[in-house]
Amino acid sequence: MLQEPADRFPPNAGAAGRSFGIYVHVPFCRTMCDYCAFAAWDDKAALVPAYLRACSTELRRAREEGLPASTTIYFGGGTPSILGSDQVAALVADVPVRQDAEVTLEANSDDITPAALAGWREAGVTRISLGVQSLVPTVVASLGRRQDQSRALAALDAVASAGFRSWSVDLMYGAAAESARDWERTLETVVSFGPPHVSAYGLTLEPGTALWSDESRHPDADSQADRYRVADDVLGRSGLHWYEVSSWAAPGHRCRHNSGYWTGQPYRGFGCAAHSFSGERRWWNFRSPGRYIDAVVRGSSPVAAGEHLSEPQRRLERLMLGLRTIEGVAASAAVPAELDRYVELRDGRAALTLDGRLVASDVTLRLAAAPGW
Ligand code: SF4
Repeated sequence: MLQEPADRFPPNAGAAGRSFGIYVHVPFCRTMCDYCAFAAWDDKAALVPAYLRACSTELRRAREEGLPASTTIYFGGGTPSILGSDQVAALVADVPVRQDAEVTLEANSDDITPAALAGWREAGVTRISLGVQSLVPTVVASLGRRQDQSRALAALDAVASAGFRSWSVDLMYGAAAESARDWERTLETVVSFGPPHVSAYGLTLEPGTALWSDESRHPDADSQADRYRVADDVLGRSGLHWYEVSSWAAPGHRCRHNSGYWTGQPYRGFGCAAHSFSGERRWWNFRSPGRYIDAVVRGSSPVAAGEHLSEPQRRLERLMLGLRTIEGVAASAAVPAELDRYVELRDGRAALTLDGRLVASDVTLRLAAAPGW
């Protein structure tokens, strides 16, 4: 077992101009979606009180070990919106934060009511990330996701007018049942609510999921590329511009927490399956909520394992993550001619073109193998 004291974080973590993120994992869902391979369970609701107590204990111990004050908090899941405002407020109160911290809560549209939104705001949440995936019922059904279409629309309306500093909508494209028109309809409806941020992810097949074992629902790579181009076009025309391969934002509305991940800033995760990163080491907690709670209650470490990143590993990560962003990476050498279509050089930096964004991982690996990169 590996114990990683919080004081291994760089002394300037979260100091002026630097970010330090806190991630809190909420692994409970009301039902499971057929494509999901996250650390999430729909049959463990009875554990919620003990789980929240364990998170508070883990946070308190980290504070005692010198946890830096955070610039962002992110409640991810699972479905963090199953938590009431008092439960969110108790967790936020346990986290040392800088002024003007960004506090994001991932929410499922079925949990959204004006009263719930007001409560989370009061609890300190500044940003809602609303999971919608699609607004076409046949597409939602083909993803094996329980989502009421009229509640999704009502949730978009309620979040838009709830007065949060920012908010975002999560979409998913490329389900086998989704036509080009279905995707356009989803995008056009979503942008009509004026979200300042949208994330759109291609459906991926994860081993062990219900979708994985049903070939008739497997996505097609060519139509996914088409859907991505349509997303970039519709979102761009509504004033949202890409700043990371899967993320589009209006000016001033980039997700600061996720931007910390993409720029290699340190972060600390709490709860089961949560990952932490000090800049040189990465470590992660037990995946199952029961095992996580047991470890914390026993007074031992919930850390399952960790790794030290060698300089070549860190270089590859910087390249992989940096290239996903619009700022790209410092161009340390010439771009091989065969990658010209995918990578452009601007002011001494290399960034992906639209074609490059469609094959970001392949381009990164080919660039990493080129001399000087
Ligand atoms: S709501 Fe999210 S975390 Fe829960 S099962 Fe669906 S995709 Fe997974």
